[in-house]
Amino acid sequence: METVYISIGSNVGDRHDFCDRALALLNLLPHTTVTGQSSYYETEPVGSEQLLGLTWFYNGVVRLDTQLHAQQLFDLCQETERSLGRDAENRQGPRTMDLDILFFGQHTIHQPHLTIPHPRLHLRRFVLTPMVELDPEWNHPVLNRPMRKLLEQVSDSAQVQKLDIVPGSRYPNRPTCSPPHLR
Ligand code: ADP
Ligand code: MG
Repeated sequence: METVYISIGSNVGDRHDFCDRALALLNLLPHTTVTGQSSYYETEPVGSEQLLGLTWFYNGVVRLDTQLHAQQLFDLCQETERSLGRDAENRQGPRTMDLDILFFGQHTIHQPHLTIPHPRLHLRRFVLTPMVELDPEWNHPVLNRPMRKLLEQVSDSAQVQKLDIVPGSRYPNRPTCSPPHLR
């Protein structure tokens, strides 16, 4: 069993709705339990305005316990992006849903399509802020520093504003079967 952190982000359409749908789908992953989620944050796009557009993102971080292998989890994340309408032709453009695996326990993974820890997470305020909200002492296994230190040191000046909404409220988890009626 590994503790995993996944960053979610949306900057197209009803961003709140896409994030809540992503949360609901992550809750449905096999051999996996969602154990925590940050607030949502509205964040200024980091990167090319031409590519990403001007719309601010909704971002958050989800913590999971999983028995899946990293590659299996990655494949399911890509499938989840697709199911939420991610445009595969224009991956760099505005996106209905971006799921990035930030950490897979304390493992480091270098595969052709998968690098963990995510290589840019320590440069992004929109990732570090929700990480610190969830687990300020979580250690970055390569930089060997806790999240709260990385946030103190980050030079990214893009704005990150905490939203006063309850994540996941649109598609709440339901019990898998109804309890029997009591007579
Ligand atoms: P970004 O998330 O950097 O804005 P994309 O979502 O288009 O951009 O991701 C580009 C590629 O990054 C993906 O096709 C994927 O193969 C690769 N990638 C490498 N490491 C990871 C990771 N840890 N989590 C998610 N994607 C990753
Ligand atoms: Mg991505």
